[in-house]
Amino acid sequence: MKLLMIAPPGAGKGTQAVTIAQHFGVPHVATGDLLRDHVARGTELGLSVKTHLDSGTLVPDEVVLAMVREALEAARGSGGLVLDGVPRTMDQARALYEIALELDMTADVALHLQVSDDELVRRLLARAAVQARSDDNEEVIRRRLALYYEVTHPILEWYDERGILVTVDAMRPADQVGRQILTALEVMKQMTEGNPELQRRAVDLTGLGAAFGAAATTS
Ligand code: ADP
Repeated sequence: MKLLMIAPPGAGKGTQAVTIAQHFGVPHVATGDLLRDHVARGTELGLSVKTHLDSGTLVPDEVVLAMVREALEAARGSGGLVLDGVPRTMDQARALYEIALELDMTADVALHLQVSDDELVRRLLARAAVQARSDDNEEVIRRRLALYYEVTHPILEWYDERGILVTVDAMRPADQVGRQILTALEVMKQMTEGNPELQRRAVDLTGLGAAFGAAATTS
């Protein structure tokens, strides 16, 4: 399973990425975690990106892409990976595709988690109260959300056109969202085994939550 995740901050990307990676036995590569680790260890790279992380702005592409290339190379032997945090811009999406083509690691699935803005801000402020992440305060949260809609959200259309987009309603509790994701991915895997053409279809599961009584999402 080669999967990348696109979701606004607070959607539960990290939590679901871990669940998926464990289920399929592939590594979980989170650019935010790798960058925060550099900052914590005080590496040269860490020192150069700290202000970006603290203010919620994007780290330069070349830094992120070099890290991701290394991770893709390392993951080749595992037959897949879950990429979390990249691409964040259309430029990164194109560059990532080039790197992945070169390494024969192009994504089978682009997983999009959908959550309303009010719920995102609520979750991020709740996380801020228990975790000491430098970018979980209201001003920076609003900036990260705005940046997501400006430069990251539009990439979804590209994955939709490529036919690998799966959208899931992530307003419900994490374990329910996780079950729906794994069910969808298992079905896709079976459908596509031996028939790669079927892989090229977009799947939209956001209606399911509403059908089973959950509140409809607004974003
Ligand atoms: P969140 O999903 O809550 O926004 P992440 O842990 O994915 O948090 O990222 C935290 C920060 O790391 C971002 O605000 C940004 O500064 C930096 N970062 C992570 N991934 C990238 C990327 N692909 N391109 C540029 N900056 C990134």
